[in-house]
Amino acid sequence: MLTIQSLSKRYNTGDKALTQVNIQIPKGQVVALIGPSGAGKSTLIRCVNRLVEPTEGQVFLGDTQITKLNTRQLRSARRRMGMIFQDYALIDRLSVMENVLSGYLGYTGFWRSFLRRYPQDVIVEAFRLLERVGLESFIDKRADELSGGQRQRVGIARALLQNPQILLVDEPTASLDPKTSRQIMRLIRELCAERQLSAIINIHDVHLAQQFADRIIGLRAGEVVFDGQPDALDTEM
Ligand code: ADP
Ligand code: ADP
Repeated sequence: MLTIQSLSKRYNTGDKALTQVNIQIPKGQVVALIGPSGAGKSTLIRCVNRLVEPTEGQVFLGDTQITKLNTRQLRSARRRMGMIFQDYALIDRLSVMENVLSGYLGYTGFWRSFLRRYPQDVIVEAFRLLERVGLESFIDKRADELSGGQRQRVGIARALLQNPQILLVDEPTASLDPKTSRQIMRLIRELCAERQLSAIINIHDVHLAQQFADRIIGLRAGEVVFDGQPDALDTEM
């Protein structure tokens, strides 16, 4: 479902961030990317949606060769990839509901939030998602009135409103306390199972990765040094 082939990235500073990475992720699989700082985890995630342009190699989402698309095609392909961020990337002065709705049609949703023009079924789906992530009583609150965990739940609901095929998740719990981190990881895991959604999660915490992922990929200095079941990990890293 997601195929990464011979992917390499060299930044124009000369840093080799990724070298010949090959990964195939089937539908519904939750993959944790682990490895020390600077290993290439966020470069890998950003190469998948081409926030970073790979130097070599291919990325396929289903039959679509992401690495071949022009700007307009890429914009539409990115709607199939839900992004979840460490800093949540919410619009503080908008309500929870407006933030979730801004996920509709990707970034163009941001402008629609001001115009408040959404199809009825999209609003119904946004409400349903907010219920699912446990925020139904917060829909009119401003985003900046929420706790970190609540903000990340909004980020998750927004990503899901796109009805993506895969979630690209960059350090989702880096700003959260341990208990909230577990709740957020559990939520992502459950939602992936419910929707047959795959995910790549860049995560620092190896224990969280082992607890909530189906598969762990370890990166070191831009190369895959482990790829396997969570319980096989400690002997090899
Ligand atoms: P991780 O997410 O595992 O911490 P990164 O993907 O951020 O790793 O970084 C991998 C390597 O690429 C590091 O050596 C980092 O310094 C370098 N790097 C990351 N982003 C850039 C950039 N925009 N320009 C130049 N080098 C970068
Ligand atoms: P963190 O992983 O702590 O969130 P990053 O290491 O990814 O932060 O760096 C933050 C920003 O700086 C990113 O946009 C990244 O691409 C860029 N960056 C990282 N390393 C370098 C580098 N060596 N040279 C230039 N830019 C870099």
